Amino acid sequence: TSPMTVRSLAEAMGRPARDLITIMFKHGEMVTINDALDDEMALEIAMELGVDLTIEPEEDFEDAITEILERSDADFGIDLVARPPIVTVLGHVDHGKTTLVDRIRSSNVVDGEAGGITQHIAAYQVGHNGQKVTFVDTPGHAAFGEMRARGANVTDMVVLVVAADDGVMPQTVECISHAKAAGVPIVVAMNKCDLPDINEQRILTELSQHGILPSEWGGDVEVVRVSALQGTGIDDLLETLLLTAELQEFRTVDSIPADGVCLEGFMDEGRGPLAWALVRRGTLRIGDNICCGTSFGRVRAMYDDAGREIQEAGPSTPVKIAGLDQVPSAGSRFLVMDDIEQAREVAELREARGRSAVLAQRGGPVSLEDFFKH
Ligand code: GDP
Ligand code: MG
Repeated sequence: TSPMTVRSLAEAMGRPARDLITIMFKHGEMVTINDALDDEMALEIAMELGVDLTIEPEEDFEDAITEILERSDADFGIDLVARPPIVTVLGHVDHGKTTLVDRIRSSNVVDGEAGGITQHIAAYQVGHNGQKVTFVDTPGHAAFGEMRARGANVTDMVVLVVAADDGVMPQTVECISHAKAAGVPIVVAMNKCDLPDINEQRILTELSQHGILPSEWGGDVEVVRVSALQGTGIDDLLETLLLTAELQEFRTVDSIPADGVCLEGFMDEGRGPLAWALVRRGTLRIGDNICCGTSFGRVRAMYDDAGREIQEAGPSTPVKIAGLDQVPSAGSRFLVMDDIEQAREVAELREARGRSAVLAQRGGPVSLEDFFKH
């Protein structure tokens, strides 16, 4: 079944579609005959037109989706495999996050592919001593908190960048509380250690005051001295991350249909809507039917973090996905569905629900004037 549209409801009620459209317009909804509408709106219309209307409950995959997403890896009853840790770099503005992630990427690209990495990417994977680490480049701690709030947290570990010449600043404190709320291990990168006259003890003291107790003081947080600018300490940082990951034993299942999170969506002139996504578990393949928030589609092509075409993407792999019907929003989760009709239905139902939620927020009828202001 597909969602109810203005047309199908009009036919079911034996009324002209324009009567329905007029009523919806009064409620602040500008629709055309092919638009979907939710049950609540349908019942409202029926009431206003004095038509008896009963709505058969629509088959709803949402509960099934939630059930799958919340299922623990062990519940699949298949072997768990190691997966690369997913690391988010956080820190106060100008403390060197961008310089650090650029430095890590340019000196550790998987397969030793050299240089020329200027374009922005949402996530990438680097190799170090035969092991992989996935870095997620969130636009900042606000986005990190937002994703966590939406249940789309994908971070296993946080690298907290603290500039040695500046110390713990307000955003550093916010990042610490986000990382603690997420319950993920923190590794501190004490950056800009190339600068003269820095006071390491002061930084360690400030960190301790905010609940980050350095291991050199008997605590459980590693503080790695780096200079993102000069490239010193980077190997040390990667090794510390891999060691921390080893202790955590990040494992998951890879031989199931994939699910994951869209980190960023955008429109590509040639390829249409694209999603920068991260596979959480399972393996995503060309031809898979996915829903991703309110968008859906058949995976037509996939690209890795270097822009190369790939056929499949396993756990913790950052991947650019082509084939969705519209640009998905950052933080929306994707899931492989049995068939394209199922994926379409989920996306369309979510879209319709989203619209009615907006409508409810707006409340009451709107005037024409109000309407055209938007
Ligand atoms: P972000 O806002 O945290 O992303 O910080 P950026 O990476 O943009 O860096 C802010 C400024 O600090 C830039 O001018 C960088 O060149 C400089 N910077 C970053 N890392 C280092 C470092 O290790 N040493 C020094 N001396 N400067 C650095
Ligand atoms: Mg930056």
